[in-house]
Amino acid sequence: MSWEDNVKRVVPYVPGEQPKSKVIKLNTNENPYPPSPKVREVLSNYDIDELRLYPDVNAGELGMALAKYYGLNSNQVFVGVGSDDVLAIAFMTFFNSDKEILFPDITYSFYDVWADLYKIPYRMVELNDDFRINIEDYLVPNGGIVIPNPNAPTGVEKDVRELEKIVAKNPDSVVIIDEAYVDFGATSMLPLINKYDNLLIVQTYSKSRSMAGARIGMAFGNEKLIKYMNDVKFSINSYTMNRLTVAAGTAALEDEEYFKETCDKVIATRERTKVRLRELGFDMPDSKSNFVFATHESIPASDIFNAAKSAGIYLRWWNKDRISNRLRISIGTDEEMDALFAFLKEYIEARG
Ligand SMILES: *Cc1c(COP(=O)(O)O)cnc(C)c1O
Repeated sequence: MSWEDNVKRVVPYVPGEQPKSKVIKLNTNENPYPPSPKVREVLSNYDIDELRLYPDVNAGELGMALAKYYGLNSNQVFVGVGSDDVLAIAFMTFFNSDKEILFPDITYSFYDVWADLYKIPYRMVELNDDFRINIEDYLVPNGGIVIPNPNAPTGVEKDVRELEKIVAKNPDSVVIIDEAYVDFGATSMLPLINKYDNLLIVQTYSKSRSMAGARIGMAFGNEKLIKYMNDVKFSINSYTMNRLTVAAGTAALEDEEYFKETCDKVIATRERTKVRLRELGFDMPDSKSNFVFATHESIPASDIFNAAKSAGIYLRWWNKDRISNRLRISIGTDEEMDALFAFLKEYIEARG
């Protein structure tokens, strides 16, 4: 016997690298633009004496600001430390059936990690060859469903009327739609939370609001769903969101113009990237996110990944079934993308 016999052993999620040196970083879908100037202002003027006090357990000011911004009641809003925190709590709260939960086989690689951690049975449902979700696959007995829309790392958006069928035809399961990338031109299912009490929408500040480092995520749903999540959260740690982050997150919501402007810039660069990459011999599904999922007609993805890294350009590559010949390329500034295109052109020509 040893204490190690009683250790909970897990294989953790592996995030993209955060290099120490200055590189062109197109590997973790961060926003290339800084947060709104209003965030800088509120943090610069923050009354440090306030840190003496515990924060509000519901991220008070931020939860209310989010409710107002999205036209909801504050009891329809859950705030967490990034959407990873929100999703982990949602898995723990809602996925306690003996039946398998369902999610796509090519998707955010944290879902199976949480399922393993919480001992939730799961089945990965195969996307078709165009990386599309087949709705019928989700109309079978299940213990819950989680789908990102747009999906990651494919970038593919599923029509919300189609996804609604999954929600409508699974009234006995909670359906989580992970909308981490929805602000880059996709359609949100948020309005449907008033129609379906089993629909939970999860969003984040990390991508479209340029605040991955602040760690703010949120869930929207029927007040009963939100209450159950809060009960679990308050059984682990009530004070997860600190006062500085609450202030920063609230300020960001007040700057709609900046938000629109930066999202539009990312979208414009993404569209230009699709065209340029196709000229260079890449193929990719149509992305509605802040990344593209590209494969080259002749050069293996792993070779491009390694060569780009040596040239100081970080991309994301997984040595995984069905996607090992693909690169996920985050959308940076126009200058960063131009540097990528220049590198690729030279590299592809040199390979002949
Ligand atoms: C980035 C991402 C998240 C997590 O983001 P947070 O930084 O924890 O808010 C969740 N789901 C998907 C699909 C993502 O790509």
